[in-house]
Amino acid sequence: MLAFALPGARAMAETPLKIVATTGMIADAARQVGGDAVEVRALMGPGVDPHAYRQTRSDIVAMTRADLVLYHGLYLEAQMGTFLKDLSRKRTVVAVAEALPREVLRGHDDYENKFDPHVWMTPALWKDVVARVAEVLSEARPDQAALFAANAKAHMADLERLLAYANETLAAVPQDSRVLVSAHDAFGYFGRDFGFEVMGIQGISTESEAGLNRISALVDLLVQRQISAVFVESSVSDRSMRALIEGAAAQGHQVKIGGELFSDAMGAEGTYEGTYLGMIDHNITTIAGALGVDVPERGMDGKLSAGL
Ligand code: ZN
Repeated sequence: MLAFALPGARAMAETPLKIVATTGMIADAARQVGGDAVEVRALMGPGVDPHAYRQTRSDIVAMTRADLVLYHGLYLEAQMGTFLKDLSRKRTVVAVAEALPREVLRGHDDYENKFDPHVWMTPALWKDVVARVAEVLSEARPDQAALFAANAKAHMADLERLLAYANETLAAVPQDSRVLVSAHDAFGYFGRDFGFEVMGIQGISTESEAGLNRISALVDLLVQRQISAVFVESSVSDRSMRALIEGAAAQGHQVKIGGELFSDAMGAEGTYEGTYLGMIDHNITTIAGALGVDVPERGMDGKLSAGL
């Protein structure tokens, strides 16, 4: 039996491990850790909102053919829950963010006993997700475990550098200006770790539209606190944000759009912003720059696209 199994196992090791990941961020982690030993497909591209996303027919085909399906969990992929649960009876399906210890997670008012899923917003938490991805890949391909561990270690070093850049750059934002107003509550961990007050027009999920009361309360706050910049998000409609700016203008307070942030989806594939490092570098640089810090124009490594 063993004599027959061995050549088969060797042939398998040469075939890349087929991974399907729901979000671009998880796909990036799998690519960083897996290198050439994996073939990764992300279901959700740039600008796609994971809270509202439903699997397409081709997604279903890809997932049922994959060796490994990685999703975020923590109810991020709210519309895919039932499908992923059913799929887990047939394939290896892992919610990589659910490995985070409960005590580092933020609860939220929208859902009792659920946690804020936006953990990629701080490299400190994302490192643990990358470590989990490395673990899962190694379980799937034990013969490649050393490669995965080495790749993960190299990526962790970049994440450490990103964290240091974030700490240094964001600490330079004047105390009074440390208010981040964006389209939905994606920046809770960012606020907690970097000392910002964070307000989203919509809640933790984008599933419900913002009410007029919420918008007028935020307009009052912008005026009272003299907040000069708000941020749009690449994966959420900016309609409510326009209403906010118009509301403030009607009260004689000018608010500008500080830039577009990558909240729940990364930038275009094949670009620096289409990687986790680039996504977060862009957010940090954009936020700090709009709130008065003299930031390096092209970010941490001089790789950010101009004029984004
Ligand atoms: Zn979100």
